[in-house]
Amino acid sequence: MAKKIYLCSPHMGGGEMKYVKEAFDSNWVAPLGPNVDAFERELSLATGAKHVAALSSGTAAIHLALVLLGVKPGDYVIGTSFTFSATVNPIAYLGATPVLVDSEPGTWNMDPELLEQAIKEVSRKLKVENEKWKDKSEKLKDKSGKGGGGRIKAIVVVHLYGMPARMKEIMAVADRYGIPVVEDAAEALGSEYMGRRVGCNSRFGILSFNGNKIITSSGGGALLSDDASLIERARFLATQARDPAPHYQHSVIGYNYRMSNVVAGVGRGQLEVLDLRIKQHREFNAWYRELLKDVPGVTFQSEPSPDFCSNFWLTCIVIDPAVAGTDREKLRLAFEAAGIESRPLWKPMHLQPVFVGCPAYVNGTSEKLFENGLCLPSGSNIDADGRARIAEVLKREFRIVNA
Ligand SMILES: *Cc1c(COP(=O)(O)O)cnc(C)c1O
Repeated sequence: MAKKIYLCSPHMGGGEMKYVKEAFDSNWVAPLGPNVDAFERELSLATGAKHVAALSSGTAAIHLALVLLGVKPGDYVIGTSFTFSATVNPIAYLGATPVLVDSEPGTWNMDPELLEQAIKEVSRKLKVENEKWKDKSEKLKDKSGKGGGGRIKAIVVVHLYGMPARMKEIMAVADRYGIPVVEDAAEALGSEYMGRRVGCNSRFGILSFNGNKIITSSGGGALLSDDASLIERARFLATQARDPAPHYQHSVIGYNYRMSNVVAGVGRGQLEVLDLRIKQHREFNAWYRELLKDVPGVTFQSEPSPDFCSNFWLTCIVIDPAVAGTDREKLRLAFEAAGIESRPLWKPMHLQPVFVGCPAYVNGTSEKLFENGLCLPSGSNIDADGRARIAEVLKREFRIVNA
């Protein structure tokens, strides 16, 4: 059978081994070293973020961002419902409650109006709860471990599949209520919003270099911020929070979250081809649009205005089964039979068994996207032969007659 075509598999640029070899030659085979320092500087240039900490994963970066924002048990953190679970899991690691906000149909990302509604309603509930706590004895407070006083500590916004969220509107709401924002740009390295790369439009940005992202370090992540002291603190917490002393002394709980110097070498080589990869992913997206342009009932995740520039990490479509003559699952199975990977869009977090019972503000958008949406193979290493195989399945399923 023909070689399997993946959604987005690692695509080396050629420069990676040089940096990996440097790590071996200098014996910096450790969770820090010259490649890590250089990767941080180069990421800063590539994103426009003033300060960067290279970490072991994007999930670790979100976790540290929330630790730095003081998220504690009993607190609330507003997250996006339509995302990968790694956006929301760190909220639960800290014993806080995720508040799940649905998407708006333009970008498929967080709906700013629903965000404001969520903040208003959760704040009202918290006020009532906190009043109740005031009446109880201190002893009771201690037993719960929460002690009342929970607050909305952060908003985690996602730029899904590379598409920037409506940051202007979201930041306006966040600023109105004084809540800091974390941008989950794991899928959106190099995407731009109003001329700036995403991940540096709020308090913190996070990146991922997992094997399936637009570039990879074989696994890794980064925390971005314009605040030097926050990134310094992140590096401290990510290396087991050692106090300055000759012996090992710890005053706070630390983590082992730093990036390895070998891994950073792969990341440096990949960063050299980031702009080329973005060009290739955008070109692939344009190819799909051309191929499917006359198919009724197929819509793409699209940039709503020139303010938005997606890296199109994955090209995603929605199929209206009433019009298209096929449906999402039929197409997915047809791809599978041809040895081609495609995948339903993310299942919203408010529908996940693990987050049942979390407050959710939904409008039907993410549920519809999940029901009818499909991620198409989008890797920059899919060659002409691969594209021909993909086109064959699409033409058959959508009955496209060649012009
Ligand atoms: C991949 C991803 C993450 C997590 O990154 P890891 O490096 O895999 O931990 C977080 N959020 C989103 C939206 C992602 O796609």
